[in-house]
Amino acid sequence: MKITIQDIEFSYNGFPALENVNNRIEKGDFVALVGPNGSGKSTLIKCMNGILKVSKGTVLIDDRAISMFSPNELAREIAYVPQSENRKAVLKVFDIVLLGRKPYINWKPAEHDLRVTSEILNTLNLDHLAMRDFNKLSGGQQQIVYIARALAQEPDILLLDEPIANLDIRHQIEVLNLLKKLSARGITIVIALHDINMAVRYASGIMMLRDGKVFASGGREIITKQNIENLYDIRVKIIRNDNDTFILPEGL
Ligand code: ADP
Ligand code: MG
Repeated sequence: MKITIQDIEFSYNGFPALENVNNRIEKGDFVALVGPNGSGKSTLIKCMNGILKVSKGTVLIDDRAISMFSPNELAREIAYVPQSENRKAVLKVFDIVLLGRKPYINWKPAEHDLRVTSEILNTLNLDHLAMRDFNKLSGGQQQIVYIARALAQEPDILLLDEPIANLDIRHQIEVLNLLKKLSARGITIVIALHDINMAVRYASGIMMLRDGKVFASGGREIITKQNIENLYDIRVKIIRNDNDTFILPEGL
């Protein structure tokens, strides 16, 4: 499904966290949100799934404003993996993932819901954790379980807020490869990423935010020395070979 962000604004008690934000994200796009801490990435993601209500502008899913969706309707279209925090849920991993089926369940899970849950646990190599207590897992394992829960929603759009921040490099690659596969199947992915090299490598589109505004938006062509240096106030070297682009911070 396509997402249209139309001139949105959001303020926290008078502090403008997003201003004049526009973008069009097509079905199956893999869009990386990048920018310094506090630039508005998490706020934008929360405005895109209706957790925060914009004070101006609209977010549309396939030409329908998200404010027109019921919570269940929205949850069948958009799944959200929040930025990691201390997660204390006292539930088994299986039950956490099953919670993703909530928008489809009347009063108790059907056979189909249990099957979808098992399949997702299997796809994410989480079978061995299924009966473990969620609150006793490592931060990285919890992160992958949250991604599994989001996938159990069978969403058309997946919003992820720094999902690889706690993961070792192998799990980072596993998660990003999985997201890439999902986007190839037509699921639209929007992901806040700190690792700009991963963003360049995986994303089909990049949206740079700075001070709550769109600093630049487009494809890999916006990964220029000047853009990166001005976005983060650092000095970098950009190395390109045939297929790859590497951004190396220079010594300060
Ligand atoms: P990012 O995810 O890019 O680090 P955020 O969207 O979390 O940025 O924050 C954008 C701005 O909004 C920052 O200046 C931050 O301090 C402010 N902010 C975020 N959440 C709140 C909140 N709950 N109350 C007040 N200000 C907030
Ligand atoms: Mg954030």
